[in-house]
Amino acid sequence: MRNLAFVLVFVFSTPVYAQFRMPSFDINKLVDTVKNVGKAVQDIAEPEEIEIGQDVASRLLGAAPLVPNPGLQRYVNHVGRWLAAQTERPDLPWRFGVLDAPQLNAFAVPGGTIFITRGLLERMKSEAELAGVLAHEIVHVLQKHHLKAIQKGAKTALAGDALGAALQDRGSAARDKLIAFGTEMYSRGLDKSDELEADRLGVVIAARAGYDAYGLPSVLQTLQAMNAQDSGVALMFKTHPAPAERLGALDKMQPTLDAYASQPQLVERFAASVRK
Ligand SMILES: [Zn+2]
Repeated sequence: MRNLAFVLVFVFSTPVYAQFRMPSFDINKLVDTVKNVGKAVQDIAEPEEIEIGQDVASRLLGAAPLVPNPGLQRYVNHVGRWLAAQTERPDLPWRFGVLDAPQLNAFAVPGGTIFITRGLLERMKSEAELAGVLAHEIVHVLQKHHLKAIQKGAKTALAGDALGAALQDRGSAARDKLIAFGTEMYSRGLDKSDELEADRLGVVIAARAGYDAYGLPSVLQTLQAMNAQDSGVALMFKTHPAPAERLGALDKMQPTLDAYASQPQLVERFAASVRK
């Protein structure tokens, strides 16, 4: 685990791409929605949010290690950090990791750690698709979806003062319970409204970062074409609304999506970085 933590820090400390020019037109108005975050989570400060995330991330990495390919990890970090730089929390310790798992999935951990599986990456066709998925996960962090769910669940699981101890004392038994609950959440999933919000704001962030806005819808179409009984998508389908429903919800954004549909997909760069 220590080794993995070290590898993460190493892999994640590379600079972002700066080759897109940021569109400064009316998409900024939409992004204002993204800026209005976190007000409901008042009792968990940012350092605690980051610490809780680190503990949850370590447990998740215990279940599936990172793909031992520094070039691939660097590439995914470049894309992810470029996207995160477009948001109102650019200074979080953003880290992106490709997990060595054949299943199709991606998830966000509080404080800015985001994982995508090798299985999902292998089904993608462009950097715009990767950006769409990473931007969806980035929104979960921005809006503190998991943090709020952990906090809510912990209040029920931990009596009275125990929540305070869980948040403050990293060595306490209460803290251990909080992290176990937080980790288990990834097999249960978030509220449907959180997922649809992540789709909605995710396409805005991807468009703002200069990508074809149809990256995420394109991945959802790939998922829609798969058999829900396929073990590779079972967990993803259990923890997310059905792809058809997610695509239906994005339909309302079609004028916005169309306005940014001509931005780059970066098919070749994706292929060169991922298929090596
Ligand atoms: Zn999600």
